[in-house]
Amino acid sequence: MNVRTIDDLRQNVNFLFRSVLGHVRRPACPDCGPGDHRLVDRKYLVARLFECRHCCLRFRHPADDASGLNAFYQSAYRQEDGITTDLPSVAEWKHMLDKGFGEKGVEHYVSLFRSFFPERDPSDLRLLDYGCSWGYQTWQFRNAGFDAHGFEISVPRASYGRDVLGLPIHSSIRELTPGIDIFFASHVIEHVPSPRKLLEQGFEMLRPGGYLVIESPNGSEEFRLARPAHHRKLWGRVHPFLMTPEFYRRWLADRPAYLSSHPFDDLALDFGSWDQTQTMFGRMDGPSMLMITRKS
Ligand SMILES: [Zn+2]
Repeated sequence: MNVRTIDDLRQNVNFLFRSVLGHVRRPACPDCGPGDHRLVDRKYLVARLFECRHCCLRFRHPADDASGLNAFYQSAYRQEDGITTDLPSVAEWKHMLDKGFGEKGVEHYVSLFRSFFPERDPSDLRLLDYGCSWGYQTWQFRNAGFDAHGFEISVPRASYGRDVLGLPIHSSIRELTPGIDIFFASHVIEHVPSPRKLLEQGFEMLRPGGYLVIESPNGSEEFRLARPAHHRKLWGRVHPFLMTPEFYRRWLADRPAYLSSHPFDDLALDFGSWDQTQTMFGRMDGPSMLMITRKS
């Protein structure tokens, strides 16, 4: 058994232990408190997924506290896709440059972001890649000509991006200045202590006319009913939250948005069909969900 397998096993046992201990506590939405909620799913007997009836966020119970989450994301957080959390060797990095970034390629986002501001040069667009890990997407955005910066709370991953790849990756929220044209967070919101606060923070940092672009696992009921086993994999120890379309609709209030789900092959074209005056729901049966709104 290798070190990583042992580490994963230890974290899973720890999660089960915390789940048993926390089972009798009252489930609570991070923003609305222990109010009205409904049971959506359960796994490992003791871990449950609830939906807050007030804000429609789906949250795992028992929850993690914010300091535990911060410590976890410093180095213990791992994804087994070979890129999200693995710092590449020189040979692996060269391989990515030669062969592309696979599922983490941002070609569809490059086309989309160019379509946001067709009259402006990408080098003039401030893009923040929030929760960028070691910068594999920040690098691609910069390579496509955008003035892209990254933000990452994991000090080892941010340091790698800065020191090895020379990327402008910030580790302190205080280093980020407002006036951003595109606030982009891909598979980040399902990890943070309060998804609502991330949306508010991102929106606050936009300049007027800027776009908030949030991709996350799809927590919609449509996806759960169509693919219950896949939906169950999307929440658990590593993902304490799932966003629903209704969660976004309530946060947005009267502000229009574009919502859709994977696949994103014709993203720029599909987004172009949104008139930006009312919320448009595309297909909601894919595993990843995308929400885009604009600051007027
Ligand atoms: Zn709530």
